[in-house]
Amino acid sequence: MSSLLVENGTVVTLGPHPRVLNRHDVRCEDGRVTRIAPHGDPESHGTRTINASGKVVLPGLINAHTHLYSTLVRGLAKAAPSATFREVLEHLWWRLDRQLTQEDCRVSAEVALIEAIRHGTTTLVDHQASPTAVRGSLDVIADAVARVGVRACLCYEVSDRDGVEVARAGIAENAAFVGRCRSGRDERLRAMFGLHAAFTLSDATLERAAAAGRDLGAGFHVHVAEAASDEEHSVREHGMRVVERLHRFGILGPGSIAAHCVHVDGHEMERLAETRTAVVHNPQSNMNNAVGVADVPAMLAKGVLVGLGTDAMTTDMLEELRAALFVRHLAARDPSAGFLETASLLTAGNAAIVERLWPGLGLGELREGGAADLAVFDYDPPTPFDDTTVLGHLVFGLSQASVDATIVGGKVLMADGRIELDLDEAEIAARARERAKALWERF
Ligand SMILES: [Zn+2]
Repeated sequence: MSSLLVENGTVVTLGPHPRVLNRHDVRCEDGRVTRIAPHGDPESHGTRTINASGKVVLPGLINAHTHLYSTLVRGLAKAAPSATFREVLEHLWWRLDRQLTQEDCRVSAEVALIEAIRHGTTTLVDHQASPTAVRGSLDVIADAVARVGVRACLCYEVSDRDGVEVARAGIAENAAFVGRCRSGRDERLRAMFGLHAAFTLSDATLERAAAAGRDLGAGFHVHVAEAASDEEHSVREHGMRVVERLHRFGILGPGSIAAHCVHVDGHEMERLAETRTAVVHNPQSNMNNAVGVADVPAMLAKGVLVGLGTDAMTTDMLEELRAALFVRHLAARDPSAGFLETASLLTAGNAAIVERLWPGLGLGELREGGAADLAVFDYDPPTPFDDTTVLGHLVFGLSQASVDATIVGGKVLMADGRIELDLDEAEIAARARERAKALWERF
């Protein structure tokens, strides 16, 4: 049996109570961490060794909300200026996603997933949109995920914005992919039932999607109250706020994810807590779209499980964590506000969210018996590095360091900064540029 030893690193466990273990070896066998022991322990050996001396070993990082389809938009300057969030969608995203072919989605995902490996992100919760190429699109993304070797939970965003036929195709795509995942093709893949957002979903479509998801026992992944206009639309058209409307259709629950929740009120937070729906905070996206700042402290105070995602603004979770902290300070006009709480979105919130998808793997925490998903950061701390300072280093130091090695399920995806996969990064980048050029011409 092949085994891997990541030796002599400074091990950071993360999880609910992050600990620092100096000069430790991490032994991985059969996809799991089987031993974490002081360097030199006679039981610590492996058929392959990665030297982590002078480096920091973290559990693989988790991105709880992203869009792998969106890479090819980078640099596109053709969209008309937008004054509102609705215009951002109409001028850019909805125009773009209508033009996406499956091959565009494939290369877009490949680029984003390689970048994730380069930033130590090993688990991603994705939300796919390609309205003129719905059927089979999740298989295309799943192929890219399998090729790159990370873990991902996929869904297709059902919406009425492109007509009822596309909405039905989205429901069918979710149902088919949930079924395929259940048949256990790949342990690294999971499925949810995707919905765009309440304001692009009619009652009839919500009813159909809810029934299909319920029959499959799938959790839902939906954008909630990202902009104030989502709430205004819901109250105007349906006589109730967004969370209440989703609740009436049975969309909320411990298997479901509500992304953003920037404009939910206190009652909606209570509903999210009571139904144990997870919320994912995406601060960089919210700042970029100027939609507001989610009241994460209030949600946590009401007992809502809150995690951290990038909404495809980056694949670097430590960059997102910094942004989460800075926007929290700015929103509170308090430079000391919520440091531990904000860090916990990444260290504990995301781990709890993906535990619901991969129960028993202990993703997001480095511990014996947990999944062998690791990231080795090229970071030799210049100041004291221990249990009391590690979160400060995460935000202000490790976030600025490069990742040397990334490992998923004991398999080395990158070592010494070199991707070790059977794929050609330069060829993928060239293909992405070609596809982007053609896509931009159709835009
Ligand atoms: Zn999103």
